Amino acid sequence: MTTGTGRGEIEETELSELIELLRALIRIKSVNPPGDETLAARYLEQVLTGEGLRPTVVEPSPGRGSIVCRVHGDGSGGDPLLLLSHLDVVPAEPAGWSHDPFGGDLADGYVWGRGALDMKSMVAMEVQIMRRLARAASEAGRNPASDPIPGLRRDVIFCSAADEEAGGWHGANWLVNEHPEWLRAAGALNEAGGISMTYGGVRFYPIQVAEKGFVVYKLHVKGRWGHGSVPTPDNAAVLAAQIVVRLAEPGPARLTDAIGVSLARAIPHLTVRAAGAIRGLISGPHGLTAPEPGAIEAALHDLCDPVMARTISAMIHDTVSVGIVRAGVKYNVIPGVAEIEIDCRTLPGTDEPAMREELRRRVGEELWVRIEVECEQIGPSVSAPLDGPLYPLLEQVLRDHDAEAVPLPFLAPFATDAKHLARIGVPTYGFSPLKTGRDDGLLQLMHGDDERVSVEALRFGLPVLWDAVTRFCA
Ligand SMILES: [Zn+2]
Repeated sequence: MTTGTGRGEIEETELSELIELLRALIRIKSVNPPGDETLAARYLEQVLTGEGLRPTVVEPSPGRGSIVCRVHGDGSGGDPLLLLSHLDVVPAEPAGWSHDPFGGDLADGYVWGRGALDMKSMVAMEVQIMRRLARAASEAGRNPASDPIPGLRRDVIFCSAADEEAGGWHGANWLVNEHPEWLRAAGALNEAGGISMTYGGVRFYPIQVAEKGFVVYKLHVKGRWGHGSVPTPDNAAVLAAQIVVRLAEPGPARLTDAIGVSLARAIPHLTVRAAGAIRGLISGPHGLTAPEPGAIEAALHDLCDPVMARTISAMIHDTVSVGIVRAGVKYNVIPGVAEIEIDCRTLPGTDEPAMREELRRRVGEELWVRIEVECEQIGPSVSAPLDGPLYPLLEQVLRDHDAEAVPLPFLAPFATDAKHLARIGVPTYGFSPLKTGRDDGLLQLMHGDDERVSVEALRFGLPVLWDAVTRFCA
């Protein structure tokens, strides 16, 4: 590409433009529920139309808008690249914030507000990429909406969808079902990766290549109704309590490809002590040693802060989280039934029957026979190739922009819209590049109080994303 400001830099005027775009998006309160993403989609429609592009806003149900916009390459480079994002954010309780969560304040070197990290900063960077491409066409006397962008060999698609925070049913899921041709691509760049995390003085950039699946179960516990004056062991509330305690015990750890590669690549950059501890846990390509129950948790807590330790633990276990426990009608009536709703997150390689078997193992036969299992929701895990054309390029771009970068593949313990794109064969990578400072505390800020992104992180991010897009497509 001949356009842009060149690798590694962004002019102040463009940085301001990017920041104003992000602030405007934060001020549009697209909190899900209820969503109201149409407001954000319409705003972006205006921005992109102003650049001569022809975006499409769809609204499958009232208020739940998504936007799609395509620029064209000359077609000689293969299938398109998809810049994916979501327009909705989770709720924010202003009481815990030092800035209005929907004010989009620019203060102390940060843009503050819900969505600053998850993920309106990436939405803004993606739109800025589309602006750059459109301007390159305009400057060459071409129509950005219909003519090939100078130097571009693949199409670039921008899609910012509704409803990701509640499963994507009104957004990416609907788009994939109704307009798969809009989104078919050689690969997609999405949230949750390419953001630096400093550990032991080393700047790691985890790039999401896989994400866990989920299974939601409702367990119906069968006891026997009775009079509270004569307690019995058949009290469904007591049985449920015993079951809940057993479900909460972590199961066996397992290394998936992404985490196995990641740990092996991280070892040379760790302190002797941390590297030794990790090596001690890795027994082979497919497993982790667990000399005694809880040994892995203990090692992780020894090596990392508690949030990081819990996050890594979730990346190597099929997890069970108890969300709802329900029993009883009156204090003096022994409940004959109880319900437990659980959120299971499955590693690649664990399907629903395997997860159910793991529940049975944890609960034990004598209690398992008291349970009727109802499966309420299933979402499969997804994995994108590490050896494909896109992943190595993403690592290289990060190294080119940050000489100290240590990019690593990672498995997200949560689900994103990648699961919908996987159904039409689009491999999705979490790559919303930001270089963060020591105190940016990312894991706590996403969905937490005082969510914010630094101006410096954005200054780094846009040229990285631009290079990733243009090297893959030009
Ligand atoms: Zn998100």
